[in-house]
Amino acid sequence: MAVILDGKMLSKKIKDNLKIEVQNLKTKGINPKLAVIMVGNNPSSSVYVRNKSKACKYIGVDFEEYLLDENIKEEELFDVIDKLNVDDSVSGILLQSPIPNSLDINKAFERIDAKKDVDGFNPINVGKLSIGIDSFISCTPLGIMKIFEEYKIDIEGKKAVILGRSNIVGKPMVQCLLSKNATVTICHSKTRDIQNITKEADIIISAIGKPKFVTEDMVKEGAIVIDVGINRLDNGSLVGDVDFENVEKKASYITPVPGGVGPMTVACLMENLVKSAKN
Ligand code: NAP
Repeated sequence: MAVILDGKMLSKKIKDNLKIEVQNLKTKGINPKLAVIMVGNNPSSSVYVRNKSKACKYIGVDFEEYLLDENIKEEELFDVIDKLNVDDSVSGILLQSPIPNSLDINKAFERIDAKKDVDGFNPINVGKLSIGIDSFISCTPLGIMKIFEEYKIDIEGKKAVILGRSNIVGKPMVQCLLSKNATVTICHSKTRDIQNITKEADIIISAIGKPKFVTEDMVKEGAIVIDVGINRLDNGSLVGDVDFENVEKKASYITPVPGGVGPMTVACLMENLVKSAKN
C-alpha cells in the first residue's frame, strides 16, 4: 500500500507559517492584498475563488474580488488590470480562468504586472522559470514540488512522466522537475502508446481531467503517483484522474483527491502573495 501524500496537512502547515509572517509584515506597515478578477459566471470558478478568499482570511490578508460581465470588451478588462497594476495597496493580481472565448487569456495574463503576477502566468515569469531565474512559479507545480520536499522524495535522475501539457500545469511542471534533475517526458492527446510510456515512469503526474484515466496497468510497481485532476462525477463526488483504489496498491506514494494537490495550489498562491508583498 502506498504512502498517502497529505496535501491538506502540508497546506495547513504552510498557511500557519504564513499567518505568522503576515503578522510580522503588518507590524512593519505592510498589508498584503490579493485582487481576483473573474469574468462571467462559471460555477467551478466561483468555488475556486471562494477557496482562495477563505485562505486569504485564514492567513490574515485582504481579499478583493472584481466580478466582470461575460460580455466585457478586452479594453475594459485591461482597464481593470491596469488600475490594479498601479494600485500600491494591491500586492497580487489573479485572473481566474477560464474567461470567455471572446477574450484572449494570454494577452490578459501579459497585461498583469509581472511583479504582481502571483499565479505565475505572465510570459516574463514563465520565461524566468524556464531559465532558472527566481520568479513567481505557477501554484500547482510549485505545490507538487513542495510535496516532494516535505516527504523527502528525491527526484534526481528519476524518470518523470507528465500527462497533460497545459500552460498552467503540464508545461511549468516540466521546468520544475528539470530544475531538480529529473528526466522528463510530457504526454498529451496526440501521444501514442501512453501506457508504455507511463509504465517506465518512476513518477507519474496526471493533469488531464478524466476520471480513472490512470489505471493500475499503466503504473510500475513502486511508482510515485501525483493526481492533479479534479473531476465532478454525476453523483456530485469529486475524483482525480487516477483510479485511486487500484493504483494505491501498486504505488509507493500517491496523492488523494480531494486533499492532495488542490489544497497545495491554494497554499502556494498564498506563499506567492506574501512574497510579492515583501518585494
Ligand atoms: P487542460 O488545459 O484542459 O489540459 C488538459 C491536457 O490533457 C491537455 O494537454 C490535453 O492534451 C491532455 N489530454 C486530454 N485528453 C487526453 C488523453 N486522452 N490522453 C492524453 N492527454 C490528454 O487542463 P488543465 O487546466 O491543465 O487541468 C487538468 C486537470 O487538472 C483538470 O481536471 C483540472 O480541473 C485540474 N486542475 C487541478 C488543479 C489543482 O489545484 N488540483 C489545478 C489546475 C487544474 P492536448 O494538449 O493535446 O489537448
